[in-house]
Amino acid sequence: MTTQTKTLPPKPASAAGPALRPGIAPLTGIGATIKQVTALAVMLIPLVGFVIAVQRALEGRMSTTDVVLFGVFYFLHMGGITMGFHRYLAHKTFNTSPFFEGLLLICGSMAAQGPIMFWVTTHRRHHTYSDQHGDPHTPNLHGPGVLGRLRGLWYAHMPWMLARDVSGWNFFAPDILANRKLFFYHRTYGLWILLGLALPAAIGGAIGGTWDAAWSGFLFGGLARVFLANQAAWCVGSICHMIGSKPFKTDDNSANNWTVAILTFGEGLQNNHHAFPGSFRHGVKWWEPDLSGWLLYGLGKLGVVWNLREPDQKTIEKMRKRALTQ
Ligand SMILES: [Zn+2]
Ligand SMILES: [Zn+2]
Repeated sequence: MTTQTKTLPPKPASAAGPALRPGIAPLTGIGATIKQVTALAVMLIPLVGFVIAVQRALEGRMSTTDVVLFGVFYFLHMGGITMGFHRYLAHKTFNTSPFFEGLLLICGSMAAQGPIMFWVTTHRRHHTYSDQHGDPHTPNLHGPGVLGRLRGLWYAHMPWMLARDVSGWNFFAPDILANRKLFFYHRTYGLWILLGLALPAAIGGAIGGTWDAAWSGFLFGGLARVFLANQAAWCVGSICHMIGSKPFKTDDNSANNWTVAILTFGEGLQNNHHAFPGSFRHGVKWWEPDLSGWLLYGLGKLGVVWNLREPDQKTIEKMRKRALTQ
């Protein structure tokens, strides 16, 4: 297996260059305003919900149902993003049935990280220009010294979503654009976000039997879950391109960070992932924390997913030697 995914456009020859690279277009006027208002809503509305949820918890008004709803919807949110949006859609690392595909993409949409065309084009662009100009969320191009690093970490965590540019659909994701079945999930994105907020509210209300229990379910399983899970997910773009171990020599600054990996079901193993982007696993060793990789392996045994792609031992050793000799 090659270390590059077939779906990724070729890497540019040089790290130098203007901010806008092939596949990226400037965004002006109403388009830029819509992008920025949407991004701010995604950052701020869940934050407000999280603050209210914390206040409720401090007042002793967090029920066992709330904790379970938070856990279950965190699992669906992170599983949908990591297995569905990332490893299935962006990197095509396995095949599955239309039913399981739908389940993965609906759960991923509930994360409110953008509809599939935004997510996949942004992510493939990240791999194409990783830690160079054109990378939508690199923490490494924000000046020297500690201040530059801190500025970079902050930018790569959230403000990158406000950038006045757009990743080309035809350039980065023509395969998804041409697939009407997949595009359905793009068009119905807003519906799935609402479902991800309404379901915990309905379940909380049904179990608690009061409007207050429904409100609490909405806060913990809905907004607070979106806030915390996305904070963890955005650490992959910020922390995991600066802080952590680098067992493989890649063309970027990607690093393996176990804390982030545990919180993000394996995504924090960024150095492994950038070395082998076409692999369904992010853990190269079986014991590296990669819950989504372990789940996909198990689902493969059950026949729910198939054609799970991963590098053979020889390819891994070759990459390991490359790291030692350079
Ligand atoms: Zn990365
Ligand atoms: Zn990736």
